[in-house]
Amino acid sequence: MSIRVLLVEDEPAIADFVVRGLREEGFVVDHQADGPGGLHALRGGTWDVALLDWWLPGFDGLTVLKRYRDEGGTCPVLFLTARDAISDRVRGLDGGADDYLCKPFAFEELLARVRALVRRPARAADSTLSVADVSADLTSQRVTRAGHRLELTAKEYALLVFFLRHPEEVLSRTRIYGAVWDERYDGISNTLEVHVKELRRKLEADGSRLIHTLRGRGYRFGISGEGE
Ligand code: CA
Repeated sequence: MSIRVLLVEDEPAIADFVVRGLREEGFVVDHQADGPGGLHALRGGTWDVALLDWWLPGFDGLTVLKRYRDEGGTCPVLFLTARDAISDRVRGLDGGADDYLCKPFAFEELLARVRALVRRPARAADSTLSVADVSADLTSQRVTRAGHRLELTAKEYALLVFFLRHPEEVLSRTRIYGAVWDERYDGISNTLEVHVKELRRKLEADGSRLIHTLRGRGYRFGISGEGE
């Protein structure tokens, strides 16, 4: 069966490039160019993945997503964001985005992300993310491990939510930076390491290792398997 993708994007050049590329891969693609049209299409269709631009005419992508999720919509959503357009990605994660891709992006990367989202089991309609004995309530931002509450900073919370959305995946530093921070990984900065260290200190104080370092590749979040 064909994979059905909804693209909500107002820039014609990007829309053409994405629509053409996905159709060449055999996907069924519908395109909407503004917020109201995107929300209408999201509500009315059965989509395997929705690609949502942040800045849209009418109302923005975050509004589309929040309204759709508030109504119980469960389609996986990948945000397409300009590099410097978002000052706080926590809002997007809380709004129910499953992943981010920063513009400009390579088509191959978009394709890989779309395929990863399609493979993922259907999301629960509720607002709790859980992996092993860790849970994050996206409404209250309350995080627990084995029932014990953890006090996290906004960035640690955003990082943990990203990990919880991608259990057992190999997550490169570039990808984590793109999703949690407003910047591309420069290959030098240790911002991520510092936050991982602090998150580990809080998260793994009384439990087993969850954030595994994969030397030269990034991180993996999960209970078992390879990594330090
Ligand atoms: Ca736009």
